[in-house]
Amino acid sequence: MAVSDYDAAAIKEKLKKAIDQHFPLERFFSPSDAILLKPNLLMPATPDQAVVTHPVLVQAVAGIFQDFGCPVSVGDSPGGFVDRKAMEDVYGQSGYFALRQAGVQLLNPDQSVEREGLPFCWWAAGGYKLVSLPKIKTHELMTLTLAVKNMYGCISGAQKSKLHVDYLRPIDFVEMLLKVYRLARPAFSICDGILAMEGPGPSLRGFPRHLGVVVLGDDALYVDLAISRLLGVSDARHILIRRAKELGLVQEDQLEMISEVPVPLVKDYKLPRQLGLDRIPAAVFEPLKALLKFYPVVTDRCTACGACIQVCPRKTITMKGKRALIHKERCIRCLCCAEMCRFGAIELEKNLLLKMASAAAKLIRGK
Ligand code: SF4
Ligand code: SF4
Repeated sequence: MAVSDYDAAAIKEKLKKAIDQHFPLERFFSPSDAILLKPNLLMPATPDQAVVTHPVLVQAVAGIFQDFGCPVSVGDSPGGFVDRKAMEDVYGQSGYFALRQAGVQLLNPDQSVEREGLPFCWWAAGGYKLVSLPKIKTHELMTLTLAVKNMYGCISGAQKSKLHVDYLRPIDFVEMLLKVYRLARPAFSICDGILAMEGPGPSLRGFPRHLGVVVLGDDALYVDLAISRLLGVSDARHILIRRAKELGLVQEDQLEMISEVPVPLVKDYKLPRQLGLDRIPAAVFEPLKALLKFYPVVTDRCTACGACIQVCPRKTITMKGKRALIHKERCIRCLCCAEMCRFGAIELEKNLLLKMASAAAKLIRGK
């Protein structure tokens, strides 16, 4: 759906028309359903930075469900270790307080419930019908973060960083993501690509990119496949789609795309550079896993705000002069610091062995 800017009334009208035409609400929901809108609220960021799902889109979707008779709430579990006060900061800076005035409840990720070994936020553990409202963004580990990856925010914040370490290789992370998706499957996905992100996303080092598009569908995997095609991203790069196809969860010839915009929408969408972890065969990776490392490093964009020091679960960051300093020895590479740095001052650096392994795999596979 082509949508040029964040005009609340125009978005609501256009979305309602598309929903009525292709996905009538009564086919998927009843007015007694409690709706949980799950935007991407990675960190406190203003809407023009393209990190969070724009509040105007969320408000338009909330209004459509409220008009249908459903009570509507919003929930996410941002990066880092978020308490109630920090969550208010995320909602406030991201422009979500207006939703409260419109009768939408803003929920906290303060309690978790275990499901099949994964710690879900209480609001994603049943009781709500979920609607995924992702921002269309690039992601340094996954290439893209879209409707399926957005549901990773249903995992309780304190545990997300640990899972990132446990599932270091993107292919392993994807397997875990597909499990999250199975357990917290959204009934609808509506993706904010009006102002998207490209380059080294998903945080503040990525670049806002106006695409002027909203993508909606009733199957998040097919929504992700459609966006991949709109952006001209191959399955070789989009590992989630590649794996979902291998597992028979999504099929190219089953994709039914009704599009007002050209496909591909853009020919020069900038992807992040690849870390190369996936090129390393599992037989080589597993025995060397503990030695193949990437680390966050602080660049001269650091303003010494101290936010990374507060968020680091291992307390391994100190302030040296006017710049944060990461002590690598205790770092578990959860990347909370990089995600939460509002100045995009933390970058990823491979250690020598990982650089060598990536280069060797590239040579062997000719990629
Ligand atoms: S690295 Fe980022 S979060 Fe940490 S002190 Fe510097 S500017 Fe603040
Ligand atoms: S320094 Fe390491 S352990 Fe601390 S937040 Fe950053 S990545 Fe996580």
